[in-house]
Amino acid sequence: MSPLPSVDAVLRLLEAGSICDDYGRAALTDAVRAVLAEYRAQNSGVRPEEAEVLDEAAALLAAQSTPRLARVFNLTGTVLHTNLGRALLSEAAVEHAAMAMRSPCALEFDLATAGRGDRDTIVEGLLCELTGAEAATVVNNNAAAVLLALAALAAKREVVVSRGELVEIGGAFRVPDVMRAANVRLVEVGTTNRTHARDYESAIGPRTAALMKVHASNYTITGFTADVGEAEVAAIALAHGLPFITDLGAGSLIDLPALGLPKEPVVRDCLSAGADVVTFSGDKLMGGPQAGLIVGRKDLIAKIRKHPLKRALRVSKMTLAALEATLLAYRKPDFLTRDLPTLRLLTRPVAELEALAGRLVPKVQDWLGDAWTIAATHCNSQAGSGSLPSAAIPSVALALRPAGKSGKALNDLATRLRKLPVPVIGRIGDGALLLDLRCLEDEAGFLAQLA
Ligand SMILES: *Cc1c(COP(=O)(O)O)cnc(C)c1O
Repeated sequence: MSPLPSVDAVLRLLEAGSICDDYGRAALTDAVRAVLAEYRAQNSGVRPEEAEVLDEAAALLAAQSTPRLARVFNLTGTVLHTNLGRALLSEAAVEHAAMAMRSPCALEFDLATAGRGDRDTIVEGLLCELTGAEAATVVNNNAAAVLLALAALAAKREVVVSRGELVEIGGAFRVPDVMRAANVRLVEVGTTNRTHARDYESAIGPRTAALMKVHASNYTITGFTADVGEAEVAAIALAHGLPFITDLGAGSLIDLPALGLPKEPVVRDCLSAGADVVTFSGDKLMGGPQAGLIVGRKDLIAKIRKHPLKRALRVSKMTLAALEATLLAYRKPDFLTRDLPTLRLLTRPVAELEALAGRLVPKVQDWLGDAWTIAATHCNSQAGSGSLPSAAIPSVALALRPAGKSGKALNDLATRLRKLPVPVIGRIGDGALLLDLRCLEDEAGFLAQLA
């Protein structure tokens, strides 16, 4: 059996020069060694040419430098898809975050006095203005916001929550688990479907630290139900001198029905109903970066800010910059559905999607050939991430159906779409692969891949 080419012989090839220019000599040497080691391990007696080894090394280097975090087309119909990164940021937010990444910025620096500043103040004023709160602070996500609020306001004591609100959100966030992690004793009141004011009243004792409501984001209870509203829980909390915390989840900053969307609790309304502290996500309906916003009473926010966990959960300058630009967009309400992608996508008219489908059907048909029938079909999108849970948002999809009946054909096509340069993610339903067009804004980019 002839020996494998030597590393030196491969590196001496003329073409090795340009690969070294791209990746450096050390990386290329390692890649050549790895390719040769693979041949050796297979022990098949194959003796590749030097050029072949170099090609394989170049391919290995190219694969290794491709980021894992790939851009995709979200054609799932779920606008805020947690696994696909939730809210898309506005151009202004992208620009502002890029500024914070490229340049030094006054993150914790008071430009008026040259003294030390607090990063919270960058967005606190805007958050207060937009929600009516007295004070505000920011952490990495809403799960962190709930954890921190509980740890700061109720550690080693009890928090009263309705059994109907002990929800699990997206697998890892379960209210009882977060309570335990915050070293808070959970006192469950009422039943799954019905909780009354007297249930809260009778659970309050000397060890009670707070009353809490959790927005049942991702499900609805219907039928024989009773729920104690914000204002009523607030009154009970006030009568006992206890803080009232609300985890609002998606928490919108504006009235969504005014945009033709279903109702979702508004942070300002929650505070005016009497909540003392409200937590919500930055990357759900608000349409900003991943963040947990905590707004409410000044004394309670001050306590939250002083807790050591706040330092551990604080946000980066990129997050703060993106958050600030997102909040600034709310100062121009007339343009929200133009400037914030989340609200733009959620309110995109069906007629626009029908026209888009009309343009795409023949092109996708050409790409797939006669083995498939492509049709535009009406379907429902959803907001996702536990926001607007029972609301179906009318949309239009391309339905891709194999000529023969085969579930395997659908799965194979889904795989093929995921292997495109910019993977296309749809959903399988009704014997078809559905590509919901609500979130397809880059029509040219999508079509270019089918060429
Ligand atoms: C989404 C959600 C959370 C978790 O928020 P993240 O920002 O994903 O950490 C917590 N509580 C409720 C009610 C939610 O809807």
